[in-house]
Amino acid sequence: MISILGIPLDQNSSFLRGPAKAPQLIMEAFYSDASNMFAENGIDCGDQSKFTNLGDMQLPSGNSAMNLIKKTVAKQLDKDQMVLSLGGDHSITFPIIQAYAQKYNNLNILHFDAHPDLYDNFDNNPYSHASPFARIMENNLVDRLVQVGIRTLNTHQKSQAERFGVEIIEMIDFNPEAVFIFDGPVYISIDMDGLDPAFAPGVSHFEPGGLSTRDIIRIIHQLKGNVIGSDVVEYNPDRDINNMTAMTAAKLMKEVLGKMVLL
Ligand code: MN
Ligand code: MN
Repeated sequence: MISILGIPLDQNSSFLRGPAKAPQLIMEAFYSDASNMFAENGIDCGDQSKFTNLGDMQLPSGNSAMNLIKKTVAKQLDKDQMVLSLGGDHSITFPIIQAYAQKYNNLNILHFDAHPDLYDNFDNNPYSHASPFARIMENNLVDRLVQVGIRTLNTHQKSQAERFGVEIIEMIDFNPEAVFIFDGPVYISIDMDGLDPAFAPGVSHFEPGGLSTRDIIRIIHQLKGNVIGSDVVEYNPDRDINNMTAMTAAKLMKEVLGKMVLL
């Protein structure tokens, strides 16, 4: 069984607020009559025997929100529910992975993003959306972190990646035919700015030269490994055009849900 959880939090965004409004709009796109509920592999994401929609979390302001996210996800995992979260900015991935790491000791993360989010210190906010993967790696929460779509690697983040052994597939080296193979359980974290802004304009940080929607879908379909959780983050409705990024987020959500059911 899979729980779908909205996490309306953008307090750790560095440049623009907005992603707190995302979960509701992605859910509207997910259930919209403009499309149907099927993933391309034939799984019906509207099947209530497989998917439970928990709605949006009620979050306190301040850092206690992060602890509540961890506890809420841990509670689902204790009930053997896998979790797909809708963010929210990317800071939510750290408390989610803290919860997952309590259950899985050989976790892998497949991370789509324009940015590696590996800053040791960004604006003196340890929970910054620019830092979740630094926090995850320094706490040894996962075996492997594989990042795809990266096109903003600066000197500091490159040294952080080397320090933590992060496997980065930069956009400059990206092969759309590549197949990703994982031994243990896989958590998929999708930052919507990993897509080219032509496909997903509703993001805070435009970074042209990115992945196509089909690139990400193909990687999800061909991935070898058990997908046990996921998040879709950094959708900023204030920047969107005709809800097209909400529809893209809902599409990716369906393809990940379809893959998670195959476990
Ligand atoms: Mn990110
Ligand atoms: Mn990003």
